[in-house]
Amino acid sequence: MLIVNADIEGRNCAVRIGETIQAVGQLQPLPNESIYDAQGGRLLPGLHDHHIHLRAMAARRGSVDLASADIRDLPKLGVKLGGSGWIRAVGYHADRHGELNRAVLDELCPSQPVRVQHSSGKMWVVNSPAIEALEIGSDSHAGVEVDQGRLTGRLFRMDKWLGERLRGDTLDLAPLLEDLLRLGITSVTDTSFNNDEEAEQELKNLKGLNGKPYDVHCMGDESLVCGGQLKILLDEDQLPDLDGLHHRVARAHERDRGVAFHCVSRIEMLVVMECLQLIGVHPNDRIEHGAMIGDEMIEDLANLAVPVVTQPGFLSDRGERFCRELKSSEISDLYRYKSLIDAGIQVVCSSDAPYGPVDPWQCIHAASYRLSEDARAINSAECVSAETALEGYLLQPDLLSKREIAPGSPANFCLLEAGGSAKGSSVHRVWFAGQPVPVSS
Ligand SMILES: [Zn+2]
Repeated sequence: MLIVNADIEGRNCAVRIGETIQAVGQLQPLPNESIYDAQGGRLLPGLHDHHIHLRAMAARRGSVDLASADIRDLPKLGVKLGGSGWIRAVGYHADRHGELNRAVLDELCPSQPVRVQHSSGKMWVVNSPAIEALEIGSDSHAGVEVDQGRLTGRLFRMDKWLGERLRGDTLDLAPLLEDLLRLGITSVTDTSFNNDEEAEQELKNLKGLNGKPYDVHCMGDESLVCGGQLKILLDEDQLPDLDGLHHRVARAHERDRGVAFHCVSRIEMLVVMECLQLIGVHPNDRIEHGAMIGDEMIEDLANLAVPVVTQPGFLSDRGERFCRELKSSEISDLYRYKSLIDAGIQVVCSSDAPYGPVDPWQCIHAASYRLSEDARAINSAECVSAETALEGYLLQPDLLSKREIAPGSPANFCLLEAGGSAKGSSVHRVWFAGQPVPVSS
């Protein structure tokens, strides 16, 4: 097939494609070649989301979303989903739904097992039937909260443990990948810290369209075999012992693996910077989120030259909550973008879906306007151009080089509406492995 009249980096070009790109330039159609007229629309390589959690996204599709619901509606919404077994709910936040524990859930749902995930992804709350079904005891895991000898139903950082208990809960990722393709995302980095060798294998075998492999880069624990980063989840409530942390990082580096540090608070950021100053930096090290970076940290961070993989989409998704909960001095440190770039730090836009909005165009818009869901400006000094935010999506998974529309590359493209800009763009058509992605059914 020949795509003609496409705007590639400002030049009007044609692209000949099979499963990969065969030629780019001023090309004449071959006899009987099918032609697609891009009508001057901007043709981009397929986008790469550098921070996403595929299994959690798929699980969310079968879950009650509490983000805009009352907790008292949980039983009703659970029935609506049609599950006779578990009710799974996401998007709980004490601010909106009040304190939640086993007793509250038991009152709502006395007989059906229920698990409710906190919107941060850090905690699950389960009811008594769930405790029984999962055989949770006070000594099952350090994350089981116990109050006066009784389980409160609150489980912290137990996703991996829960995943193992709930194995057999197989998730169908195919519809999710189709949705990603429709948004123009033709490859991702799955950043789940609990990815192990088995999960890596599963993610590497995912198919996009027509049986063609969907390109998933995977970070995770020490067992991974494909060279993805070691993901270290720092949690300021439960910081690891520093020697242990330094040892893990040093060992990963010795094995030529980068480390990706989950860093949302100032303290987490300081712990990471100190660790890297001591151990040294690997070219694939990165900081995930960098949600709170103090002014005084920027110079040290720039000296370390570690990229920050950020998610401005959180501002448009939950900016009002940030404004309520944070002091104004903290707001200026929140999801910094421009000040980091100005200091020479590489910043890469991504989604953190399902915890943040997945749509790259929403994230790019959020990076350029930084407006809350009620259109309140959040530290506008950190706005960057839409082109700058888009650049992140066009980087290779290792963040070291740009993806280009060039012969030999996969024929994955995202064609924007003619006349649009990245700021207000809409995707006109997407190709994956040389095939057009069907529009939403
Ligand atoms: Zn994440």
